[in-house]
Amino acid sequence: MFTTKYEDILEQIDQVDPVSYGNTRNFIDGNVSKLSPYISRGVITTKQVMKRTLDRGFDPDDIKKWLQELAWRDYWQLIWVEKGNEINSDLRRMQPDVDNHQMPKVIVEANTGIRAIDDAIQEFYETGYLHNHVRMYIAAICCSIGGSHWKVPAQWMYYHLKDGDWASNALSWQWVAGSNSNKTYVANQNNINKYCYTDQKDTFLDVPYEAFDSMKIPDILRDLTSPNLKTPLPESDELNINSDKPTLIYNFYNMDPTWREGEDANRILLIEPSVFQKYPVSEDSIKFMLDLGENIPNLQTYVGEFDYLKNEFSLNEEDIYYKEHPLNNYSGNEHPRDWMFSVKGYYQSFFKFWNKAKKELTRPKDLFDGA
Ligand SMILES: Cc1cc2nc3c(=O)[nH]c(=O)nc-3n(C[C@H](O)[C@H](O)[C@H](O)COP(=O)(O)OP(=O)(O)OC[C@H]3O[C@@H](n4cnc5c(N)ncnc54)[C@H](O)[C@@H]3O)c2cc1C
Repeated sequence: MFTTKYEDILEQIDQVDPVSYGNTRNFIDGNVSKLSPYISRGVITTKQVMKRTLDRGFDPDDIKKWLQELAWRDYWQLIWVEKGNEINSDLRRMQPDVDNHQMPKVIVEANTGIRAIDDAIQEFYETGYLHNHVRMYIAAICCSIGGSHWKVPAQWMYYHLKDGDWASNALSWQWVAGSNSNKTYVANQNNINKYCYTDQKDTFLDVPYEAFDSMKIPDILRDLTSPNLKTPLPESDELNINSDKPTLIYNFYNMDPTWREGEDANRILLIEPSVFQKYPVSEDSIKFMLDLGENIPNLQTYVGEFDYLKNEFSLNEEDIYYKEHPLNNYSGNEHPRDWMFSVKGYYQSFFKFWNKAKKELTRPKDLFDGA
């Protein structure tokens, strides 16, 4: 379902209909791009996607929703950069009404009785993709209705997602759960029926919105579980490193085939067990990353910590290059990565960030010079 060939990925960017996107994106069959696995793995950037779309001649005002959604990604990432590990706990306030630090078993087993959700979770296990609205419904069922703290179910979702991006993930879960927003998000059966084209009644969500305020945790969500999430790490290659050449470090968040393209360098896909122990991902997710690595000539896989790599192959720091990312605890030359806008730092609300950032859209020429 998800190609891993770079040319096909570029073609997929060009296939996006950024105008109809705005009106349809909330529907389960809406015109969404499915580009997130490539943005998350650092194969393409939000800036590249924005530029390629604007180059097709659209007026930014006509594709505002599309540009805003791309900007959400940068917004969450910038919070990760700014706040670091703080995003791993309740960011702005304690999640209200926490009942447990596990998650409802019926979510993991795709057995909530809500057809649209159960079908989407089944498909999720097969494809590694979930529609944004369904992600919100699932998070609402776990946290806002089921009283689970956001962290365990967020890790379960991140584990299976091909587009796992801990910033978008943790911070969206916290947004739904109310620890990174002023109120919790809920959706009732009518809402699910509308956006998923079902006509189900008599489920635990078949209530008017006012009923959520006094709703007890439904029995069906009371059976809890903590999924056992372990990353099946691949084997290292027999590395062939020439210490006279620069060494470029790729990883789960940087699989960019155009980075220093054509340069004679050692190219190492670094898989650090410590990172995957803290942020576990599924076998499919690891395979997806390895398949994307086929776009990078002579990429060699090293499974081990950065310092071991450096010491084992006597690498000099001045010859090591990597792209900036909050998970990279490396030494060497850090390269900046591309952002859509020059606006940086922590903004408590997306719209404060966007209102500043969007001004740059009126001068796209300067913005994209040299991009
Ligand atoms: C509970 C929850 C967990 C999430 N976890 C992740 C995650 O681990 N990784 C991830 O990439 N996204 C995550 N998202 C955000 C969003 O659901 C996905 O980025 C989007 O569904 C990806 O599908 P698409 O590429 O077809 O998106 P499109 O709708 O086509 O959007 C285009 C691009 O804009 C960005 N984007 C769109 N919506 C959002 C959003 N709500 N937040 C941030 N960026 C957005 C993405 O980069 C996306 O690829 C999560 C959202 C929720 C509610």
